[in-house]
Amino acid sequence: MKKNTYSGIRTTAIHGGEGPDPATNASAPPLHMSSTFVSEEAAGFSAHDLKDDSPWLYARWANPTVSMLEKKIAEIEGVEDALCTASGMAAATAIFMTFLSSGDHVIVSDVSYAGVAELARDTLPRFGIETTFVDMSDLNALNNAVKKNTKLIHIESPVNPILRLTDVRAVKKIANQVGAILSADCTFATPLGMRASKLGIDLIMHSATKYLCGHGDAVGGIIAGSRSLIGKLRLEAGIHHGGVMSPFNAWLIARGVSTLPLRMEAHEKNAMIIANWLEKHPNVTDVKYPGLESHPQHKLAEEQMNNFSAMLSFQVGDESVGKALANKMASKLEVIHYAVSLGHHRSLIFWMPTEELINGSFRLSNIQAKSYKAFAGDGIFRMSVGLEDPEDLILDLERVL
Ligand SMILES: *Cc1c(COP(=O)(O)O)cnc(C)c1O
Repeated sequence: MKKNTYSGIRTTAIHGGEGPDPATNASAPPLHMSSTFVSEEAAGFSAHDLKDDSPWLYARWANPTVSMLEKKIAEIEGVEDALCTASGMAAATAIFMTFLSSGDHVIVSDVSYAGVAELARDTLPRFGIETTFVDMSDLNALNNAVKKNTKLIHIESPVNPILRLTDVRAVKKIANQVGAILSADCTFATPLGMRASKLGIDLIMHSATKYLCGHGDAVGGIIAGSRSLIGKLRLEAGIHHGGVMSPFNAWLIARGVSTLPLRMEAHEKNAMIIANWLEKHPNVTDVKYPGLESHPQHKLAEEQMNNFSAMLSFQVGDESVGKALANKMASKLEVIHYAVSLGHHRSLIFWMPTEELINGSFRLSNIQAKSYKAFAGDGIFRMSVGLEDPEDLILDLERVL
């Protein structure tokens, strides 16, 4: 591979993985929608011999536009390789199904993206995989949970939806004691918010649907890491399980990634303004944003995050008050969209009832439920602060609060 003459993150986000199209000299990267590629040799090759310089063969194995995005993300994350998947959930499934077998043990953050929590709890045991759910902010609990057959530890930081952080370096030390792979869902932090490979994360996972795409118009997932780990994923999860990303989505997401560093600066600035404003509002009883000094793990946030991203949660009293406000928001907000998902240029807000999440998605035990409630309280609004003028976001919130 040609060595880059640049190293800055903004330049990498724009030029990483791409270059003028050799066929046409087009400056923008081409979109190759082709599912198959004409062979120059009579016989194909096995998926097991796929190499960097193998000819394009079939789009489930590799597609030039998807590969362009994979190279771009690998360069941004400072790792050897990356694999694009059909969605963030497909990325999580890829990790679990590639690196776990019957008889293995996996430890998953007790609070994590609801789909991932449900997948780990409901699907993995059917394949003979033993699962333990741990509050990853409690390192003693994690220490007690690891076993000889722990093959994978899956964390999230900050966790969706309550913005609790995980001390990644500390978790890595524990993973190393049993030789477990450390995978982390870095969707909230983005590649700008956490230098994941430097913190020791082996498999860096993102829902590309969120900040990487950034514009709310494509679903996708990505996993970045070493050539050997990603090679295994590409063979099993990509070629065999088949949940690959469409070239069109890769093209849209790559276009979004080009402005990721600039967007994250603006996202963080806006989120800081909104978080500070919410903290002073008389009807708001609690705000959680890693960038606020009042965040219980603000010190850890400063140590391990380079950008606090733009996800925050806030409360307005007990669950009944919150629910009533959620209804009002759904009908009265004009700029902020009352909708799930996050990381878009448009601001999004959604109500997250505590009891329903604890009993439904997370099924937390007593002490974990207590810890969740102590951290998040009784029902929260999860807000993904977008790139609008902060004055307009404040006006919109003022109207309903
Ligand atoms: C959205 C999300 C996912 C799932 O991603 P999809 O692209 O919706 O499948 C996983 N983890 C986190 C933290 C998310 O926010």
